[in-house]
Parts: sequence; structure tokens; C-alpha cells
Amino acid sequence: MNAGFLQTPVAYLKGVGPSRAETLQSELGIQVYQDLLNLFPNRYIDKTQYYKIGQLQKNNAEVQIVGKIVHIKTVEHKRGKRLVAKFIDDTGEMELVWFRSQKWIRENLKLNTPYVIFGKCNWFNGMFSMPHPEMELVSEHEKSLRISMQPVYPSTEKLSNKGITNRVISKLVQQLFIDTKGKFPETLSDNILYELKLISKSEALFNIHFPKNQELLAKAQFRLKFEELFYLQMQLIAKNMLHKQKIKGFNFDQVGTLFNDFYANHLPFELTNAQKRVIREIRADLGSNAQMNRLLQGDVGSGKTIVAVMTMLLAIDNGFQACLVAPTEILANQHYNGIKELLAGTEVTCELLTGSVKKSTRKPIHEHLENGKLNILIGTHAVLEDKVIFKNLGLAIIDEQHRFGVAQRSKLWHKNQIPPHILVMTATPIPRTLAMSLYGDLDISVIDELPPGRKPIKTVHRYDSNRLKVFQFIRDEIRKGRQVYIVYPLIQESEALDYKDLMDGYESIVRDFPQPEYQISIVHGQMKPNDKEYEMERFVKGETQIMVATTVIEVGVNVPNASVMIIESAERFGLSQLHQLRGRVGRGADQSFCILMTSYKLSSEAKTRLETMVGTNDGFEIAEVDLKLRGPGDIMGTQQSGLLNLKIADIVKDNSILKSARYYAMQLLKNDPSLDKPENLVVRHFYAQLVKFKNIWNYIS
Ligand code: ADP
Ligand code: MG
Repeated sequence: MNAGFLQTPVAYLKGVGPSRAETLQSELGIQVYQDLLNLFPNRYIDKTQYYKIGQLQKNNAEVQIVGKIVHIKTVEHKRGKRLVAKFIDDTGEMELVWFRSQKWIRENLKLNTPYVIFGKCNWFNGMFSMPHPEMELVSEHEKSLRISMQPVYPSTEKLSNKGITNRVISKLVQQLFIDTKGKFPETLSDNILYELKLISKSEALFNIHFPKNQELLAKAQFRLKFEELFYLQMQLIAKNMLHKQKIKGFNFDQVGTLFNDFYANHLPFELTNAQKRVIREIRADLGSNAQMNRLLQGDVGSGKTIVAVMTMLLAIDNGFQACLVAPTEILANQHYNGIKELLAGTEVTCELLTGSVKKSTRKPIHEHLENGKLNILIGTHAVLEDKVIFKNLGLAIIDEQHRFGVAQRSKLWHKNQIPPHILVMTATPIPRTLAMSLYGDLDISVIDELPPGRKPIKTVHRYDSNRLKVFQFIRDEIRKGRQVYIVYPLIQESEALDYKDLMDGYESIVRDFPQPEYQISIVHGQMKPNDKEYEMERFVKGETQIMVATTVIEVGVNVPNASVMIIESAERFGLSQLHQLRGRVGRGADQSFCILMTSYKLSSEAKTRLETMVGTNDGFEIAEVDLKLRGPGDIMGTQQSGLLNLKIADIVKDNSILKSARYYAMQLLKNDPSLDKPENLVVRHFYAQLVKFKNIWNYIS
């Protein structure tokens, strides 16, 4: 059978007409045979086992039992009638119960005749009972040809309304196996099949739909998960390799005076080992003739800024300009001030460009960018505008990538004939496993060590009813000279209400912390940039002790003297957001605190989030929990979630398979980059097909 056959529209399959084809497409995305074949069951009903009533456990499992009905009666109840049958075998008795179709059942059931029943068993009123069992006479049961483990396919209301039941789908898949004689082209090389002891594609497909037993089902699942992850990795790695071959980059082969002078004379602290390692990794990229595309991950406060600065110095040493782009004005400002301070005493020139920079200030910036007098430009999206022209941009650094789309990355890309080196910095730790899949086309560096001397932030959870005590704690800390953040949630869907909460909260804080003893700043998204800036500045300078804010302060803001972070309605924040917010404190020498305020009403997921925050300060650990709670799609936001639209594998649960798939893909592409060797032809074929028919692979950009 040839592979093209699987691209036949599903309407050609026996049992599918135009109407069913349409429903299959709209509900399950099934267009061609291949899609149907790749519609994997969610679970299986195991009918290989027969239970005795005496063996039943109180676990609500689905069981199959042989026995007979000895008695049947209708029981009247406040909420209606039900039909109850006494069902026995040689080990005990139980009840079968019907709430619907009672008349038909009563008329058709045979007493004292052996039946095979199947269904979920409940423990109810001191007795096992099975509502609406599937029933078959033993005499029929023995005659019928059965699949021992029955697949349960994904379904939707519309599918069942249109009569496309699980049985129908199962029949269609069977038909497909009949038409193809169950023979499907192999998609993995003999080497891999042999080394990993994988079963063949045909065997795997058969057993995923109609498992002969549990063991074969497990083998089928393993093989198909491996295959899916293997080809995902193949694409990402191939893209990365191709990129390195094709995209020439500027070669920064010198470590020049600026870098060396800075390192020897201007470094305000000793670099951590992690910072040193990351700088080495970046330097290797910059001198490799290929364009750098690197993601720098480091928890909040891990010291990414200094790495950015030293990377920019490398660019300037080699005669190029550099830019740093941040997602908000506040952040860009802060970077600008911090970096100016670091570079004081060097000859490096540095300017700030944001939306609120005046025209008169802009003009010389544009000029100096074009004639090369300006070395470093720091700013917001304004830097990306077409009218911003560099003489020779050699390096672009993007801070806080999660607020930044791929489109913006590509804008930077086109600022030159040869694309600049790109370093993306993120403080949202992405678990390695996920990063491998999402950013397989980026290289990854991790700062996994905090600068020395940091005291871990103490995090507690308090209920709203304890607010007075919390306020007293705030007063005590302010008396010691510290500053405090109080953050309110601001969620788009409930924006108006959230603003009301924020303003109510602000008013009550103003009442409890009266002037002139206390000065309070407030910052939120509805304020004009200038006002925001002004309020921020007051807090940064220490003129105000309390900063009431929405999550606008989430990213990057650095006020080392702030040592208390209060998060209101903490149950409404996601884990990574809570962690980001907490990262605003703990930047100075003092003991810092994070207080998570909530009402008593908490979902179990919210409880897990709060417990995780109280339990650890480690961003990667938190990211792992987050990934488990929300799944990979949500973590990366909707734009990227399609990327993880996997059919059978689960990036989190199948982590070890992912690692092995990545290893084998890497080996293969290293030893045979263009897949020319005869033993790899099978991989080459399938790979080409995937790209051509982009069924699930439509994320290849
Ligand atoms: P982030 O990774 O969150 O951007 P920053 O670069 O803002 O972190 O650094 C956080 C704070 O730690 C800054 O005040 C910075 O000066 C300080 N810092 C960074 N690296 C070191 C180091 N190696 N030793 C001591 N302090 C450091
Ligand atoms: Mg930062």
C-alpha cells in the first residue's frame, strides 16, 4: 500500500457520506484517512477480565461479571421510580439499577438465565450496584467475535447527536484496517527499531486501536509516542542546524579593550560561576561565523543585566552597535539608568528611546545611530520602528521574552542585510523539557545560581481576616526603614471590577497609613505614562514607603530597599506570575517577605499554587509545578500553544521518552545530516511527507 493512499478524503471510506465527513472534520479535524488512523483512543475498556461479585472493590471501576438475575422489582422513590434487579453468582449478590427504559427492560430481561454484564460498580447502601449495565446473554457472548479491549474515542456532543457514536468511529477505523489489510509504511529506521526494541508501525497502529492485551497496548503507545516526539525533535534540530549553516553572522572574533577594561576595572562585583559560564557560551556563539540565536534563562535577580552589558561590549569592541529592547517604559528606563551607571567611566555611549522621548531629544539619537557615534540604544518597541536606522547593528538583546512576540524578533532581524546576533533574556523559567521542544531552534543558556549573600525570601499565606496583623507587620517594617509593595490582580475579563478593588484597597490603605507619617504611591495601567513614571520615581527614590500597584510592576523593577511584597487575592494569580512578583523583593541585604493574601474560598488548584509558593523559592521547581497544573499550552500563551498539539505524547508525562527521542534525532542528524544513508531513507521519506502534508506539523514557520 502506498503512502499517498492515506491522503484519501475520508468521505471515500465505506460508511462515511458527505454529511458524516463534514461532521468528522468540524468536530475532530479529520479530513483524510491518515487523520482517522491518528485519532487515538482516550482510553480502553478492558473486557479481558471477568470478576466475581466477591472480588469487587469499592473503587468504581468498570467490571465484567457473569451471573444471573433472580428477582426484579420496581422501587418507588420521591424523585421517581427505578427498576432494581438482584444479580447473583456463586460468590455473592449485587443490584442492577435502571432509571430509564424500565418498561422495555422489564419485558425483555430473562430471569435465571446466565448473562455477562459490564459497567461501573458503585458501593451503595451496603451493597454493590451497577446502574444501566451493558448486558449480553452468555450464549450470545460466546458466539460473538469480540475485541477484548475496546477503544473509547474522543467524542463531542455534536458527534453523538449526529449518531457518530464510539461504535461508529470504531467501525470506521476497522474499515480502514480492512481496506489497507492493516499494512502501513514503516516510519522509523531499522536501527532505531532495533535499538529501542520498538514494534513496527503496522503493529503499533493495530494495537493502539484494537489492543490484543495490556502489554501490546503499552508497546504500541511507547512506539507512537517515541515517533511523534522524534519527528518533533527532528524538525527543531534540523531547523537549528540549517540556520547555523545558512545564516551567516557577524564574526566578533576579538575580545577587545572595552570588554577587558570593564572586566578589570568596572565590574562592581565578582561574577557568579553561572554568569561566567553563560558569558563563555555567548562568546563562543559570537565567534562562530553563524548568527547567534540564544535564549538566556535566569530566575529574577540572578543577574542577567551584567551579562547583557558584557555581551554588548563585545559587539562594540568589534566595531558594531548594540540595542536592548524591553517590554515597558519603566523597564527600559530602569535598564538605561542601571547600564549607564555600570558604564560610567568608560567611553561607551548609550541612549534611551521610548515612546515618550521628546522629538528634540530624538533627533540627535537618530543622527548618532546612523553615523555610528552611538554605541548602545536602549528602549521599548520604539526601537523597532522602521525610521530607527542603525549604522551597523551587530547585536540585539530582548529582555523578558514572554511579553514579546516572534514577529518583533523578526523585525530586529531585518534591521541589517546580515541579521544581528540575538540574545533573548527571560526570567520566566521554562522547564528544560519544555524549552527543548519549544525553543529547539534557539540555543539555551541558564543562570542557575543567585549572587552570593541573598537571604531567601520568607513567604507566608494569610487570610483576609488577618489583615490587621498584616498591616501591623507592614508598619513595623516601614519603621525599620523598608519599603512595601501591595499588588492587586488585574485581569482583562474583569477589568472594571478589578480597578474598583484596587481603588477600594488603595483608599483603605491610605486610611490605615495616614500622611504625613506614611507616603503612598499608586501605579496602574490606566494612568498616563508620565504620572506612572512620577509615582514610580518617588518609590524608587524612597520618598514613598508603600507602592500600591497592579501587575505592571511585575517585570524587572529593581528597588533593593523594598523588602515586603503583599499580594492581594493571591488565589487569582498564576504561579509564574506570583513568582515574578515575589522576585521584586529580596534584592537587598535585608530579610524579605512575601505575604499571599486570600479569602477562605480556595480551589484545590489555588491551594497547590499557594503551597508551592510557600514551599520554595526555586523558579524552575515552580515552573515544573505550573506545567503540571496547567499543561504546556497555557504556559506559553495561546500563540504558541498550537505548537504542542501532540496526538499521543505528553511533554510532561513522557519526559523520558522525549529525552531519548531528542538524543536519537540529534545522533541521526549529526551522523547523516541530509539523511542520505540507505538505512535512513525511511526517515527521510516520512519527514518529507510531514512537511508536505503538514497535518499536525503546521507549526513549521
Ligand atoms: P535579573 O536577572 O532579574 O535581571 P539583575 O541583573 O537585575 O537581575 O540583577 C539583580 C541584582 O543583583 C542587581 O542589583 C545586580 O547589581 C546584582 N548582581 C548581579 N550579579 C551579581 C553578582 N555576581 N554579585 C553580586 N550582585 C550581583
Ligand atoms: Mg532584569
